[in-house]
Amino acid sequence: MNQTIQELIAFLSLPQKIIITMHRDPDADALGSSLGWASYLAGKGHEVTVISPTEYTANLRWLPGIEQVLIYEKASDQGKCKRKIEEATLICCLDFSALSRLKDLGKVVQDAQAIKLLVDHHLEPEHFAKWMVWDTNAAATAQLIYALVKEMEGNKPAQEIFDKGMAECLYAGIMTDTGSFRHGNVTPAVHLAVADLMLTGLDTSRVHRLIYDNAPLSRLQFLGYVLSQKLVVLPEYRTAYMVLTEAELQKFNSSTGETEGIVNYGLQVENVVMSAMFIERKGEVKISFRSVGSFSVRDLASTHFNGGGHKNASGGRSEQSVNDTVATFLRVLPSYQSELLSVD
Ligand code: 5GP
Ligand code: MN
Repeated sequence: MNQTIQELIAFLSLPQKIIITMHRDPDADALGSSLGWASYLAGKGHEVTVISPTEYTANLRWLPGIEQVLIYEKASDQGKCKRKIEEATLICCLDFSALSRLKDLGKVVQDAQAIKLLVDHHLEPEHFAKWMVWDTNAAATAQLIYALVKEMEGNKPAQEIFDKGMAECLYAGIMTDTGSFRHGNVTPAVHLAVADLMLTGLDTSRVHRLIYDNAPLSRLQFLGYVLSQKLVVLPEYRTAYMVLTEAELQKFNSSTGETEGIVNYGLQVENVVMSAMFIERKGEVKISFRSVGSFSVRDLASTHFNGGGHKNASGGRSEQSVNDTVATFLRVLPSYQSELLSVD
């Protein structure tokens, strides 16, 4: 057992006041790993508060324990969040590696006195945490939480450690971050973790349905519009991209969640190895990138769009207009052409 985990176990042998937080606009991995970890720690007698920097999407509202999550951005929650962070003895930072991913909450966490624990699978973490459980080979932070709890519990079988609700939270994170077990980040360890979690009675098909087959009709209509009217394919760069303006989002009454995942459709086009989506929202442009194989969209996002993430799934932001942001993308594409053409 490594020293971090030994120190963590010793620290947790006394009741602690613990904050768990995650990246802004949390996805199923950020929230699922946080809620699974929260449930484990609460079961050990710790006082646990889960704080999300911003709201989460409607398809995650069923996650067991979600009702306890405070939203830092919400005026009615912010005072309580600050008080809890001030009192905390441990702050667990899950599924992000840079404090900027916490939006306004970043500074509050940075200034807090509590010990910080980072549990994450993104590249190049900032060194703000005393303890790091960090592995870029892990497909999901939920997989890291699973492995951490197993180790802390002496590798007992899952049904003796996790209840079904915790297993659902962790499975949701692993399933979504692997694209339902399709992406290159799937390893034997991923399937072994899931097999073990299924011993709790976890219904994997139900979790899949609740996340993916649970959309308002407007989301499907919006998707139809994007795919038929907005998807541009550049065969010479093996690239697909989509640009969505604020007016279009408003027309389809689209909340943040209704654009989530749409970028992946670009990769379904034959021969395409990179897909990008530009979304104009609240005076900034949010960009999502996806790729396959050797092409790193993380490099593209960090070099040109103030972003980062994983090799095959990254994102960034721009304060330029949406047209200028897309123009930048089209301008830099030629310098990636040979790399894009050489993807297997
Ligand atoms: P998504 O396209 O789903 O928003 O993000 C995909 C991945 O890109 C996320 O898992 C995250 O790792 C990364 N990512 C997205 N937006 C940002 C950003 O603004 N900054 C950084 N550093 N990473 C991001
Ligand atoms: Mn993740």
